[in-house]
Amino acid sequence: MKSDIEIALDAKMKPIKEIAEQLNLNEEDWEPYGHYKAKLSDHLLDKLSNQPDGKIILTTSINPTPAGEGKSTVTVGLGQALNRMNKKAVVALREPSLGPTMGIKGGAAGGGYSQVVPMEEINLHFTGDIHAITTANNALSAFIDNHIHQGNELNIDPRRVEWKRVLDINDRALRQVVVGLGGPVRGVPREDGFKISVASEIMAILCLASDLQDLKTRISNIVIGYTYEKQPITVSQLGFEGALTLLLKDAIKPNLVQTLENTPAIIHGGPFANIAHGCNSVMATSIAAKLGDYVVTESGFGADLGAEKFLDIKTRAGDFEPDAVVIVATIRALKMHGGLDKKQLENEDVEALQRGVENLKKHMETIENFNLPYIVAINQFPADTDAEINFLLDWCEKQNAPVSLVDVFTKGGEGGLDLAEKVVKICDEQSGSLNYTYELSDAIEEKILKIAKKVYGADGVEYSTKARKQIEQMKELGFNELPVCMAKTQYSLSDDPSLLGRPEGFTITVQEIHASAGAGFLVALTGDVMTMPGLPKKPAALDMDVTEDGVIKGLF
Ligand code: ADP
Repeated sequence: MKSDIEIALDAKMKPIKEIAEQLNLNEEDWEPYGHYKAKLSDHLLDKLSNQPDGKIILTTSINPTPAGEGKSTVTVGLGQALNRMNKKAVVALREPSLGPTMGIKGGAAGGGYSQVVPMEEINLHFTGDIHAITTANNALSAFIDNHIHQGNELNIDPRRVEWKRVLDINDRALRQVVVGLGGPVRGVPREDGFKISVASEIMAILCLASDLQDLKTRISNIVIGYTYEKQPITVSQLGFEGALTLLLKDAIKPNLVQTLENTPAIIHGGPFANIAHGCNSVMATSIAAKLGDYVVTESGFGADLGAEKFLDIKTRAGDFEPDAVVIVATIRALKMHGGLDKKQLENEDVEALQRGVENLKKHMETIENFNLPYIVAINQFPADTDAEINFLLDWCEKQNAPVSLVDVFTKGGEGGLDLAEKVVKICDEQSGSLNYTYELSDAIEEKILKIAKKVYGADGVEYSTKARKQIEQMKELGFNELPVCMAKTQYSLSDDPSLLGRPEGFTITVQEIHASAGAGFLVALTGDVMTMPGLPKKPAALDMDVTEDGVIKGLF
C-alpha cells in the first residue's frame, strides 16, 4: 500500500469553492486561502443560529500506546462513510502541532484512505493559526518584560510571572531559561521557560471562545503572574487585550478543507489533551453542527483525558452535547496493554488481548458514567488475526457493547459503512442528558477526586505542599467554581506512564495547580507531565525532505 503522503498527493481534491457550495455557504460566509483551503467567517455562527443542530458524534479511544490507535483516521473514515450513505456529514478535527510532527507522533491528518487534504499543508503551517497563537503568546511575554523594565508600575514580582514563552517545536533545552541577561539596557533578569505553543492558554482561549468579543474578554482575564503582595495581575491591567485580539483576528476563523472523498472538514485549534484540554474549537464544532446533519469530531488521546475534557469543559463552554461516542481500539494496542512488547505485536496472542481489554472496559464504563451511548470501533491493522478479531467481537457482545470492525485505513469510507450505519441508529435513539463528572459548585479537591475516582479508577488523590497552598490561593481569588483541566500522562489511566492496562489500588499526585482564568479553568499538573516535550533520538524530521521539483517526502 502507498504511504500516507503518496495517497494524499494523488487525491482528487475539489476546489474549495465547491466544498463551500456543498454546505450551502454564500461568498460572504468564507474566504479562500489558496485553491483548497478556506477560512469561515467568524459571523457565520450568528447567521446560522436559527438552524437546527445536527447530531454530534465524538470519537475517543483507549489509552494510546506506541502501537497506534488511529482515532483521527477513524474520525475521517466515519465522516466519509456517512457521506457515502448520503448523509450530510462534516468532520471537525484538531489542527496538528509541528512539535510532534517533527518528533515521533507523525502527522494528525488521519491515515491511509481516510485523510484530510491537503495533508502536507495541514501538517505544516496550514493557515498560520498556530503561528498567530505563538506570536500573541510571545507578544504578551515581551509586554510583561517591558513593563518590568520600564519601572514596573504594577509592582509585578519577576519571580512570580507565570506566563511563559512558547514555540511550536519540541525543544527540551528551552524548558527553563533566564531572560534579560546583559545589564540594565537588556531588561530585568528573571527565570522564564518555554511551553509548546499548543499548551499556551491562548490556544485554549481560542478553542473555547464563542466569538471575537468573547475572545477579547477571555484574553483580558488572563492572569500573567502575581505582585510582590501576591495579588494577581491580569492582561486588562497591562492594557494589551486589544492588540492580542488583533493578532488573532484571522486565527479565530475556522478552517475549511476536505477529506480524500471530498467530505467537508473543519479543522480549527489543537491543544494537547495531556497538558491542555485537547479538543478542537467550540466555534468549529458548533458551525459544523449547523452545517451538517452529522458531525464527527475527535478529542485527544484516551477517554480519560480528551473525552473527559470534551464533556466536562468544552460542552460547558459550547451549547451542545454528543449524541454518540465512538471508542476506537486496536488489537495491537490492547495487546500492549496486556503486557506484550512492541516488538512482538505481529505475533498472534489472544491471551495478551484478553488481559488488555480491561483498559477498553474502563473507558466504556467512563462513557456510561457520562450517560452517553457508545460503540466500540476496532480499527483493523494488517497483522490482526481472525482468532484475535473474533475474540474481541465476542468479548464486546458479552459486555452488551455495540461494536464494529473498521477498515477505513485501506478502504476509505467503504470500510466504515457498518460503523456509520450503527452510529446513525444510536443517534436516532433517544438518549438521556449528559451526566458531568463533577458540579462546578464542588470544591476544587472534590472535583479532582471525582475525576480521579470515576474516570481514572484511582483510590484517591495526594497533593504536594505547593499544590495545597495554590488551592488555598485559588479559593481566595474566587476561582473555585472553575472546571479543572487535568494534566496527566496519556499512556496510563494513572499518573505513572508505565502502568498499562487497568491499574488498580493507585493514587494520583497533584504537583501544582495554576489558574487559566482566561480559558476559564484550573490546570492540575500530576506526575511528571512536561509542558514542553523533547525530541527522540531519531526525530521523524530525519526522514523529511522536499526535492528540487517540490516533491515532499517523509510526511508519513
Ligand atoms: P491518533 O489520532 O489516535 O493519534 P492517527 O489516526 O493519527 O491516530 O493514526 C496514527 C498513525 O497510524 C497514522 O500514521 C496512521 O496512518 C496509522 N494508522 C491508523 N490506522 C491504521 C490502520 N488501520 N492500519 C495501518 N496504519 C494505521
